[in-house]
Amino acid sequence: MSTQVSETNIILSERVNKLKASATLAMAAKARELRAEGKDIIGLSLGEPDFNTPDFIKDAAIQAVNDNYNSYTPVDGYVALKDAIITKFKRDNNLSYDPSQIVVSTGAKQSLYNVAQVCINKGDEVILPCPYWVSYSDIVKLAGGVPVEVATSIKNDFKMTPEQLEKSITPKTKMIWYSSPCNPSGSIYSKKELRALADVLQKYPNIIVVSDEIYEHINYVGGHASMAQFDDMFNRTVTVNGVAKAFAMTGWRIGYIGAPNKIARACNKIQGQVTSGANCIAQRAVITALEAPVSKIQYMVDEFKNRRKLILDLLSDIPGFECNEPEGAFYVFPDISYYFGKTISGITINNASDFSMFLLEQANVATVTGDAFGNKNCIRISYAASTEQLIEAVQRIKKAIA
Ligand code: PMP
Ligand code: GLU
Repeated sequence: MSTQVSETNIILSERVNKLKASATLAMAAKARELRAEGKDIIGLSLGEPDFNTPDFIKDAAIQAVNDNYNSYTPVDGYVALKDAIITKFKRDNNLSYDPSQIVVSTGAKQSLYNVAQVCINKGDEVILPCPYWVSYSDIVKLAGGVPVEVATSIKNDFKMTPEQLEKSITPKTKMIWYSSPCNPSGSIYSKKELRALADVLQKYPNIIVVSDEIYEHINYVGGHASMAQFDDMFNRTVTVNGVAKAFAMTGWRIGYIGAPNKIARACNKIQGQVTSGANCIAQRAVITALEAPVSKIQYMVDEFKNRRKLILDLLSDIPGFECNEPEGAFYVFPDISYYFGKTISGITINNASDFSMFLLEQANVATVTGDAFGNKNCIRISYAASTEQLIEAVQRIKKAIA
């Protein structure tokens, strides 16, 4: 008879042991678990539009199934999709890429992972203006890089200044990663602000910029600016984008980059060994999504804008929720440090994680702690939820902290 081997014999890699789980996904899983136990949880933790994928995109996917798109796809994406991406970059961002500079991946998260794997050597420093999107830090660490967090403040609308950038550069600096519109702060770098950062980088020609523009269309003030638009930055900027947010296609898993040829070809190589080309049906649907005029998705942006006003109005009525006015994306990132050291219903709040957990347990509202984004004083609330849910969530929060 064979003997059962215990799982304690399995030794995992140091790499995965050091890796943190994604806080956004962990909170979403926790909310799901509590709901399964019968708790009425309002989930404001996951950054996911609550709209259905528009019908014209779904129809394209159905057509692709019926047209027998079922084979392996080219590693860096269908030619027709790369053409649609090139046209989109020209139309929306005035960027001119060649097909060899485009790589389609299984979500923008994989695009970021590829870029980290092909650019970062052990010990290379990557500047992350805080707050940054939750996965940047761990994707950088997985590649052997060292995240260098640059603290920003609500007074400066959570944006890194040129002086801060200059100060954080060392001989080991390899890259800078940021998102604009920013997840989680909603802040948007204007063309002028990007130019000022680019001016600092003039002295450091080896530093590569990753400009994550996945929230490009979810912009309430207009005027999206890309770092790659500056001639002196084009050849060292990776522009990351995807369809998850603006097209309500989170589960379809398509992201893409426009990048210097050398980086794009290296991403193609690594992806060819890891996942191959992205899903065939999703790629066909994304061709239709990107070729459509942006006006076709404006109804979702308009609705997010209404909800932004609603959530800001509602939160302004709660003491100790200090918010910036987010210009894009669908998050508010209130500074809740007012509650640190206070005891509510017998629970002492010492930090943002305590506060987020308090809201989950006492108000049945799921949020994400700012720690996950490199900011210890804030929590992130996603307002990609219905008006009723937002009103109810804030009422519950008010009641819990009363
Ligand atoms: N970048 C940012 C700033 C995000 O918020 C997200 C979350 N969707 C991603 C990248 C990853 O996007 P995707 O779902 O396409 O992998
Ligand atoms: N990007 C979304 C968020 O920040 C989805 C979750 C994730 O991919 O981490 O909530």
